[in-house]
Amino acid sequence: MPDVAVLGGGLSGRLIAWRLARAGHRVALYEQGESSGRSAAAWVAAAMLAPLAEAANAEPLLVELGAASLKRWAEWLPQLPQPVFFQRNGTLIVWHAADRAEWPLFEQRVRVNAPVTMLHDGIVALHGAQVTQAEPALGMRFHDARLLPGEGQLDNRQLLAALGAALDELHVDTHWHTCVREDALPAAGLVIDCRGLGAKQAWPGLRGLRGEVARVHAPGIGLSRPVRLLHPRYPLYIAPKQDDHYVIGATEIEGEDMSPVSVRSALELLSAAYSLHPAFGEGRILELNAHCRPTLPDHRPALSWDGASVLRVNGLYRHGYMIAPEVAHEAVALAHALLEAQVRDLDGFDAWRAASRWPMLYRAAALQPCSTD
Ligand SMILES: Cc1cc2nc3c(=O)[nH]c(=O)nc-3n(C[C@H](O)[C@H](O)[C@H](O)COP(=O)(O)OP(=O)(O)OC[C@H]3O[C@@H](n4cnc5c(N)ncnc54)[C@H](O)[C@@H]3O)c2cc1C
Repeated sequence: MPDVAVLGGGLSGRLIAWRLARAGHRVALYEQGESSGRSAAAWVAAAMLAPLAEAANAEPLLVELGAASLKRWAEWLPQLPQPVFFQRNGTLIVWHAADRAEWPLFEQRVRVNAPVTMLHDGIVALHGAQVTQAEPALGMRFHDARLLPGEGQLDNRQLLAALGAALDELHVDTHWHTCVREDALPAAGLVIDCRGLGAKQAWPGLRGLRGEVARVHAPGIGLSRPVRLLHPRYPLYIAPKQDDHYVIGATEIEGEDMSPVSVRSALELLSAAYSLHPAFGEGRILELNAHCRPTLPDHRPALSWDGASVLRVNGLYRHGYMIAPEVAHEAVALAHALLEAQVRDLDGFDAWRAASRWPMLYRAAALQPCSTD
């Protein structure tokens, strides 16, 4: 019997299984889809690591988790057996002249949610030639911009592949194409449920938020960092990956519709990209993808323990990549404490939570998962 059975081989499941195996635990991983990770929200995501830009819509907990996770990504990624494109070149925020009222609104929201330490040198105003200098392709089209220099991004699919290789290297017992039902959890010292939306039965209020993205090959534009286009109706980002590939996203639509990208969304995404730079018009659409972000009612990530042998990690919403290292680090530390019987009961769990760097990650009893529908 393994020490730990991890359910779900998307972002959080792979990351947690890797860290546990690296720490010497015997780990099994169960994933309903194939080893590439194609079934996960993590496969579709743009994988931007942008805590300050996200502060426009995310509460301080997420912003701080994101900032701490950026440091942890930098430390963890070189430990993987395969290279993963990882960039800390900042985020550029632009807007068309007609939408100039959008920046002050965006900035106000960022300043409410971001800690003062992140705001210091965290937003750099660029005008005229400075925009060209930062992003030559955009200088002629945007007179004003803001650079958030501390932010980053990574290549999500390279990461999933590298984590898969790391699991093999560490002899994790991987079970691909294996769907785990709530009433038939595998035997293990501890089960860690990272099934994202697949864990709905266990999480009251867990819901999906549909997101759609386009992947485009557009040589000759040469963006060097993710760009966010502020717009009252179609806020959009374009994340340049390697080899002139761009991820253009993302819609956010209530509901768990996993059907293909709608014509309306494709028009919005691609038109906004074209308005950012006309050379996107000659780009080639490689993929149009949709998936749903696993989201709890308060839009926060959560770690929950059932008082026995199941630990659950969920609610990564639109910030999975941005916050996953800190969430995984916390989950792995708690798993270790449970396996070593340092935490034995709910009082011990409360004490653990109180001593944690991120006590708000742990679920209060009222929101703890129940085992029925
Ligand atoms: C369009 C879009 C864009 C995004 N962009 C970003 C971004 O730029 N930055 C960012 O930080 N985040 C982004 N995200 C969010 C990020 O992708 C998610 O937060 C993250 O993937 C959630 O991780 P997870 O491991 O909880 O779930 P998932 O990655 O969905 O993994 C869950 C896994 O569990 C498996 N599973 C489900 N049920 C079962 C079962 N019964 N048995 C076995 N396996 C099961 C699934 O097949 C899946 O592989 C985006 C998401 C979307 C959809």
